[in-house]
Amino acid sequence: MRLLCTNDDGILAHGLQCLVAAAEPLGEVTVVAPDREQSATSHSLTLHHPVRPISLGERRWQVDGTPTDCVMLAVEALMPERPDFVLSGINHGQNMGEDVLYSGTVAAAMEGISIGIPSIAISFAGGDLRADVSMLDDQIEPLTRLLRHLVSLPAFPPDTLLNINLPPVSGDDIRGVRLTRLGRRVYSGSIKRMQDPWGRPIYWIGGGSIEWSGPPNSDFRAIEEGFISVTPLHLDVTHHAILDAPESWWQEQ
Ligand code: MN
Repeated sequence: MRLLCTNDDGILAHGLQCLVAAAEPLGEVTVVAPDREQSATSHSLTLHHPVRPISLGERRWQVDGTPTDCVMLAVEALMPERPDFVLSGINHGQNMGEDVLYSGTVAAAMEGISIGIPSIAISFAGGDLRADVSMLDDQIEPLTRLLRHLVSLPAFPPDTLLNINLPPVSGDDIRGVRLTRLGRRVYSGSIKRMQDPWGRPIYWIGGGSIEWSGPPNSDFRAIEEGFISVTPLHLDVTHHAILDAPESWWQEQ
């Protein structure tokens, strides 16, 4: 089995090393990953300048582009054969609720399914791991078990990516795996007004506090209760229920 691993935290991120360690027992791993931090770049594509892959060894590449560029380049140009799965992560931080709309980690998996390859995004819901990378090492073994199960499903759901969040607990304390739906999250205080060195106002987006809401089968509830969360996502953002009941809002012209 051929597995393409990428991420949005950059090729040096510890999470990517842990993903490779978790994936290697399952097949031949190729890594094509951004050369620097690309978090929150979503599904962006580099169109206005070339991207340059640099070989770091057998089946290892860094690219001066986005996660989407990496998947496209890997499949169209760098890998001699198409991968059977795209694995993206392990992201340093959760990707739940509306996070998936900003996430480069999830977007790499979206790119995978948009070119017809089953894809899985994996995030560690433990905040910034640079403080404590050992928690992530602990997730390798349970992640291998879960990935082994998912890649050998008799029918991996078509046109679907699986968005996995790992709970911030030690491997032994993971209570199980739950299939979930996206919850809702609200950031507050996430724009900070500051001054540049010349005293002019600037704003820095990030930080603040997060509040979660959603039904009991939401992703964040699973994480809160110590479960691995697996949310199936698809790319069709059509609101089918609204379309099925147009009389509630639409008048024929
Ligand atoms: Mn990231």
